[in-house]
Amino acid sequence: MNYTDTQLLIDGNWRPAQDGRSLPVLNPATGAEIGRVAHAGIADLDGALAAADRAFAQWKRSSPLLRSDLMRKAAALLRERAEGIAALMVAEQGKPLAQARIETLAGVEVIEWFAEEARRTYGQVIPARVPGVTQLTVKEPLGPVAAFTPWNFPINQAVRKVSAALAAGCTIIVKAPEETPASPAEMIRCFVDAGVPAGVVNLVYGDPAEISSYLIPHPVIRKVSFTGSTPVGKQLAAMAGLHMKPATMELGGHAPVLVFDDADVDAAVSAMAASKLRNAGQVCISPTRFLVQDAVAERFTAGFTAAMAGARVGPGTDPDSTMGPLANERRIPAIERLIRDALDRGARLVTGGERLGNEGWFFAPTVLADVPTDAAVMNEEPFGPIAIINRFSSDDDAFAEANRLPYGLAAYAWTQSSARVQRLQDEIQAGMLTINHIGLSLAELPFGGIGDSGMGTEGGSEAIGAYLQTRLVTRKG
Ligand code: NAD
Repeated sequence: MNYTDTQLLIDGNWRPAQDGRSLPVLNPATGAEIGRVAHAGIADLDGALAAADRAFAQWKRSSPLLRSDLMRKAAALLRERAEGIAALMVAEQGKPLAQARIETLAGVEVIEWFAEEARRTYGQVIPARVPGVTQLTVKEPLGPVAAFTPWNFPINQAVRKVSAALAAGCTIIVKAPEETPASPAEMIRCFVDAGVPAGVVNLVYGDPAEISSYLIPHPVIRKVSFTGSTPVGKQLAAMAGLHMKPATMELGGHAPVLVFDDADVDAAVSAMAASKLRNAGQVCISPTRFLVQDAVAERFTAGFTAAMAGARVGPGTDPDSTMGPLANERRIPAIERLIRDALDRGARLVTGGERLGNEGWFFAPTVLADVPTDAAVMNEEPFGPIAIINRFSSDDDAFAEANRLPYGLAAYAWTQSSARVQRLQDEIQAGMLTINHIGLSLAELPFGGIGDSGMGTEGGSEAIGAYLQTRLVTRKG
């Protein structure tokens, strides 16, 4: 695998920053620099804005069928190139190769889903009160989009935004993650090589705050989409609101997992441990607050702890690794702080709790038990391989704890009781609830949170609507 430097994509040209600036890209398994990524300045952003604006005038008029065909070609290229792109992702992000492969191929499905959606942006004909009057709505693309995507799923987070925008007829400027630039760039290259016209997709990297504060207020940009932390999402949504631009926000979570006394404990253990270890816990829907009913608490804790302690933590290039390093060095002190604070407040360390080795950013899968509600880890998204196991006696207590936080992204539950399933469905405040299996993140399903976890959805049949506006025409004759 040859890791190459990543350039900007502006108006169909791959090129360095105008002032020649670049940033290092580090391998999380070693800490070593493996390449560089171009750092856009204002002149580059102006180039991207002009290109997105000019291209929009044509792209918005292109037929949905043409857009759909180009997107299918891009999907086919991504499928063909998946193996090489997954290897780039491992080098820059750290996850095991098998996970990088799954993410890349899931990206193919997302493009294909939105290629179909392009052909279904229906308006309405609304029955009139008066003979001779026709009332209809038309859906049209909002305009050039500014999209900001993070480093945990370098392809998945970007492909949802690019695909929905292009399907709708919008153009887009993607500010992709500086830490993991090459794999999203190669995903976007598939669109360029498929024949998407110059300026329809533009790609920049640089200083995230500088770029967002320049692009979001800019009159060319008509729509904002961000995936990342809740505090940053609130800032960007406020900026978008100030300039009257719709925003889709996919933000942090703190997913509860309710394991009731009638659960299939073995199934819960194996599904939830695999889910917690995935991407070293750096997942917005990662299961975090395990609430386990007294009667099954010992069995669940023993099984889950064995699975976490038995994880094979190592470089993503080693086929035996089930968990890679953390994606960047700043996650280590962030996680250490949460663990230290929980232990200071009386939590019990069941396994893990420390950094592994001196090279790279490996961290032991960690289980904390009996964690008091005021511990930081019970309230802040850990974004790492930490699971909290707390017991409950009554169902009411479990529901109250599950809904305690302002977040509402994913929630998980395990029970054989249909009455409990119904209550979960009615009462759990989460954008996505999965019961007795893991069924999230498919292209055809909504993906998004409620409350502090964000607004809007990035999957399923509603997702393209976030890139469209509705106009009413009522006419006589
Ligand atoms: P961070 O809050 O500094 O950044 C989060 C993401 O937002 C990064 O991709 C970053 O480049 C981007 N960002 C930061 N400030 C920005 C700005 N002013 N304008 C535009 N983009 C901006 O934190 P971090 O150290 O990168 O990640 C830590 C936290 O971020 C995690 O604890 C987690 O809560 C959250 N996060 C969430 C997701 C997700 O999938 N929802 C992904 C990555 C990070």
